[in-house]
Amino acid sequence: MKLAIYPGSFDPVTFGHLEIISRASKLFDKLIVLVSVNPNKPSSFSIEERKELLHKVVEAEKLNNVEIDSNDGLLIDYFTKRNADVIVKGLRAISDFEYEFQMAQANRRLCYKAETIFLTAKSENTYLSSSMVKQIAMFGGDISDFVPECVLNQITERLRIKQ
Ligand code: ADP
Repeated sequence: MKLAIYPGSFDPVTFGHLEIISRASKLFDKLIVLVSVNPNKPSSFSIEERKELLHKVVEAEKLNNVEIDSNDGLLIDYFTKRNADVIVKGLRAISDFEYEFQMAQANRRLCYKAETIFLTAKSENTYLSSSMVKQIAMFGGDISDFVPECVLNQITERLRIKQ
């Protein structure tokens, strides 16, 4: 059984993430979407909220081989603990590449078994990021083109309250 891990902030989940989740779930027997704590990146949604949103999206899409989990330690320790085969990352633009390349090299250095596979975003999603969604929603903008319908209200309400 091939097990893949897709780590990220998912703060909050967007159509860009969903596209990668959906494609990766078809490539591997099982996919773990791993909400990862990044101490250098301020977040708007708690880990539990981010997991709840991801659960809703995965259920709505009937992606039955996808598990949602979180991790506040090193990705590679989680990868080893779960006996995973692959790390999946999404690439939007060249600007993602340098950082992701470094991370992939470092992870392989820490664990030779840790292969990272990159899925390139489809063109409509290349500009899409959680931070863009947050900025638009905070100012009362319409984010229905950017986040799945089943979580649209929850994300919109939550970001308005924060204003
Ligand atoms: P961000 O906060 O920048 O939106 P995340 O840390 O949540 O990003 O991203 C997790 C993973 O998902 C990363 O591999 C990132 O490259 C990928 N990703 C994020 N947005 C998109 C998108 N619009 N299309 C494809 N991949 C994406």
